[in-house]
Amino acid sequence: MILVTGGAGYVGSHLVLALLEQGKDVIVFDSLELGHIEIIETMKKYGNLKFVQGNLKNLDDIRGIFLVNKDIEAVVHFAAYSQVEESVKNPQKYYYNNVYGTLNLLNAMMEFGVNKIVFSSTAATYGEPSYTPIDENHPQNPINPYGNSKLMVEKIMDDYDRAYGLKSVRLRYFNVAGADKEARIGEWHNPETHLIPNILKATPDKKFKMFGTDYNTKDGTCVRDYINVEDLALAHIKALDYLNNGGETNYINLGTNEGNSVKEVFEACEEVKGVSIPLEACPRRAGDPAVLVADNKKAKEVLGWRPEKDLTDCIETAYRWEKVLSDK
Ligand code: UDP
Repeated sequence: MILVTGGAGYVGSHLVLALLEQGKDVIVFDSLELGHIEIIETMKKYGNLKFVQGNLKNLDDIRGIFLVNKDIEAVVHFAAYSQVEESVKNPQKYYYNNVYGTLNLLNAMMEFGVNKIVFSSTAATYGEPSYTPIDENHPQNPINPYGNSKLMVEKIMDDYDRAYGLKSVRLRYFNVAGADKEARIGEWHNPETHLIPNILKATPDKKFKMFGTDYNTKDGTCVRDYINVEDLALAHIKALDYLNNGGETNYINLGTNEGNSVKEVFEACEEVKGVSIPLEACPRRAGDPAVLVADNKKAKEVLGWRPEKDLTDCIETAYRWEKVLSDK
């Protein structure tokens, strides 16, 4: 059985569904502060899924999971706050939840002899890029508490390996996009801050805000590497296989090696919707680097993983999901 923390959230739920479809038993631990019970109920139709509501900040909540479920082989850890701007305003929330909460999880794992974990890390651990595309040897100098909290956890995992034999794979995501191909689940944030859903949700009364048109890039808007959420889920399964085959602790970028500007994404969304989308050019958003693109060679070499889906795929599935979401 695989334990997935944060499995009612965006990326976590896509992994859970992929695991269930491969016939794996899954237990999701989620506080439901940001995750959605409806997503769990939907996924229960597709396999053996157990759900426990709890908070990693309570050691007893997570110890209880291991006490009752003796057959947990590995953990995939998503549960975290992930809003950069909020982390700057309220760092204690981020350190307490993302770092202390993870310590409780790791300590419970050690107590119950579970020593394999796949961790949801981020390109934000690199900070302002000094070269592009970014490979895993790029210095890690986060520029906000969110990135710091994820980097701290990466370091803790290294120390736990040296001292207690914890084997971890830290997956550093670039910009995750898209939804389940059948629109059963998808991105469901409240409030939504991400680019593609915000473009798709725009109306004449609530225009899409394009943050910054004066960057030193091909068309003046920021360039990002959009990685499909289903492709991303499969990379987690490959990371679990890697650990099950005796793989050592590792850290791997997950991206496509390709950059798309905000303008390009906007135009691709108009193409998919088949209408022009109301747009407002706005000043830059604080803390946005001009270009963030992954070098994904290591993922190919170590995991045998490569992205299969392109930007249009991400937008089409996100659009289908938006229509489902607007009825909820
Ligand atoms: N962005 C934008 N309008 C929005 C949301 C995002 O122009 O409503 C831009 C943002 O400034 C960045 C890119 O889209 O350049 C990707 O932002 P997102 O929040 O999706 O991901 P991030 O790169 O911050 O992880």
